[in-house]
Amino acid sequence: MRQLLVVGGGIGGLAAALAASRAGWQARVLEQAPVFSEVGAGLQMGPNVTRRLRDWGLLEAAQSLACRPEALVARNALTGAELARLPLGDAFDARYGAPYLTIARADLHGVLLQSLRGAEVSLETGRRVTGWVAGEGDSAPGVAVHLDSSAQPVLTGDALVGADGLWSALRQSLLGDGLPQPSKHVAYRGLVPLDGRVPGGAHLACEVTAWLGPQLHAVSYPVRGGRLLNVVCVIEQTIDGQAQGWDLPGTSARLMAATGPVGGPLRELLQAVPAWGLWVLHDRKPVASPQEMARGCAALLGDAAHPMRPYLAQGAAMALEDADELGRALALVNARIADVPQALQRYAQARWQRVARVQRRSLRNGVIFHATGPLRLGRDLALRGLGSRIMDVPWLYEG
Ligand SMILES: Cc1cc2nc3c(=O)[nH]c(=O)nc-3n(C[C@H](O)[C@H](O)[C@H](O)COP(=O)(O)OP(=O)(O)OC[C@H]3O[C@@H](n4cnc5c(N)ncnc54)[C@H](O)[C@@H]3O)c2cc1C
Repeated sequence: MRQLLVVGGGIGGLAAALAASRAGWQARVLEQAPVFSEVGAGLQMGPNVTRRLRDWGLLEAAQSLACRPEALVARNALTGAELARLPLGDAFDARYGAPYLTIARADLHGVLLQSLRGAEVSLETGRRVTGWVAGEGDSAPGVAVHLDSSAQPVLTGDALVGADGLWSALRQSLLGDGLPQPSKHVAYRGLVPLDGRVPGGAHLACEVTAWLGPQLHAVSYPVRGGRLLNVVCVIEQTIDGQAQGWDLPGTSARLMAATGPVGGPLRELLQAVPAWGLWVLHDRKPVASPQEMARGCAALLGDAAHPMRPYLAQGAAMALEDADELGRALALVNARIADVPQALQRYAQARWQRVARVQRRSLRNGVIFHATGPLRLGRDLALRGLGSRIMDVPWLYEG
């Protein structure tokens, strides 16, 4: 059986392992952390994701832990006034053939992890990969990876996938294009119990709400079967140093000071969040060619390949789509239609333009969400006039 080495056991890495095993490969997931786990808060999953979860037989399990919001609502961050509404109910499901769900990251990660038990997948923790080398010739293994502190490559496989996130070591080894750059946008995220004490909690519990700035925005939606409200507030702020990670301690005071003019319902909501974590958003340029996603027997997937601002809520979604496409490519190898480098090039060819489009659209959303002055007035007028037509993204959800 052919073997895929997957570096990183986040949502992208686990999905890649699942797709590989469905394609008849054995997968070996190498995760640096001592246990497989997910930090962070919630995820929105559009029909482009839930359709794939259904294909993989996981939609029911995910749905049992997720919420199904009734609408996506845009509001003015300063006053709370509604600007536009996109219904996400039955008509939306029927249009796209799959539901729009919101879920805790840990719950989606758990569903993927559970699906790998009993599959041809080895899940290995405490394995920090520092680099890789290509094998030589047809009879030699396609790839070999270095683990932390090993001078010689120690693990071999037929193909390698770097799903090791924003700070990907595999990417450095493959492309050598430097570190992602810090943006001036900082995401504060927190969870608040929907126990009746959240102001406006009854309708927030049924909606994805996007509160649009000037110079900030916030998004709230229910997770954990409606018991918690996930709240993310993105503000323009410079944090000293190269802050890495999801869970940097944030302070409520710092956030509240930065959200000065925010009043009404959003201020009350932010004040109700018991604890905040902050995450400095980092950027890379959108993917510019398939060679940035695959070379020889190695490929990149998820944030390692195409980190993006979370303003279209599609980072994990793109990682899951990548995994689905990767599975199709690996199946070509087993069917003797392509060798490993050809199959990985097909994967990259199929993915790079779509992920670059999503990266660009996410960046553009940030400009719109944080607009000031006349642009902000124009945005609000357009949302009031065109509403759901602006908020729906058929090219994305149909993909
Ligand atoms: C505020 C915010 C809101 C978001 N909202 C959404 C949303 O609504 N919908 C959506 O789809 N996406 C959303 N995203 C984006 C999404 O969370 C990420 O794009 C996604 O989790 C990336 O998954 P990944 O598996 O590629 O990387 P990661 O989740 O970063 O996983 C990488 C894994 O690799 C491991 N690793 C790293 N280096 C090594 C190494 N050298 N050796 C071995 N293991 C290693 C890490 O420990 C980790 O487990 C949001 C992001 C943010 C910040």
